[in-house]
Amino acid sequence: MFDLHSHSHCSDGILSPEALMSRAKAQGVQTLALTDHDTVAGVSRARAAARAEGLTLVSGIEFSSQWGRGGVHIVGLDIDIDSVPLQTAIERQQTARATRAEAIAERLERLGVPGALEGARALAGEAQIGRPHFAQFLVDRGLVKDQNAAFKKYLGAGKSADVRFQWPDMPTVVNWIHEAGGVAVLAHPKKYPLTRTKMCALVADFVEAGGDALEVISGQQPSGTAEDLARIATREGLAASCGSDFHRPDAPWQELGNFGPLPPGCQPVWELPGFTA
Ligand code: AMP
Ligand code: MN
Ligand code: MN
Ligand code: MN
Repeated sequence: MFDLHSHSHCSDGILSPEALMSRAKAQGVQTLALTDHDTVAGVSRARAAARAEGLTLVSGIEFSSQWGRGGVHIVGLDIDIDSVPLQTAIERQQTARATRAEAIAERLERLGVPGALEGARALAGEAQIGRPHFAQFLVDRGLVKDQNAAFKKYLGAGKSADVRFQWPDMPTVVNWIHEAGGVAVLAHPKKYPLTRTKMCALVADFVEAGGDALEVISGQQPSGTAEDLARIATREGLAASCGSDFHRPDAPWQELGNFGPLPPGCQPVWELPGFTA
């Protein structure tokens, strides 16, 4: 059982790398990839915990990238976390996240919500700061009932505290992953606000950028989704990945290992030559 997309408290997840590995084992996952947003800070701890639990850990990351006017996520799997180009890339992304956080806080301030930068930073602690930390701050202030509502009202694309932000383009991000010896996976292709035609254009551009695989399964999906994505992957010559995108224990649709097998006919990423898992 492979789950190749998950988060720890080193980005916007809730669990420590150790707690994540224990939960993976309890859920019947044998091979887990830790793919925190723009950081590999939890990978060494997850590796040690995996060894103790008798599981296999795939070193991973989820990079923010830009496609047209919107953000897309590219997962790097089986990366060398000590690679110098990767470290440089991560530093660049962390600076970008800090700059974006300041812009989001300024926007909130103008909307009459002061103290968001300090609040979100406090919630993030050592973790990579992201919009979920702002979302939680808004929940704690009593301005919205939950994080989803915070995205709907303030932080989501086109909402009042959405800031225009340019992440690095897909060829740049794919290259970072390849320089670290990894496999580049276009994450959750159906979760972007794109029509199917636009989504297919995104996949074609990802192939053009040198991408290797498509995340055919991302947690619990509407029926037919995996089959559709598997067809697109095969047509484009991409391998197939699957993962829960686990962040927290109270979201059963993103529970570790809680998804079916890859549809027949696709090439699993873990069977690509050189993939160590
Ligand atoms: P960021 O990486 O800072 O742009 O934040 C993106 C993260 O926010 C995603 O990886 C999700 O974990 C989370 N997210 C996105 N949309 C929502 C939503 N509608 N409700 C709750 N969390 C969300
Ligand atoms: Mn996230
Ligand atoms: Mn994502
Ligand atoms: Mn994710």
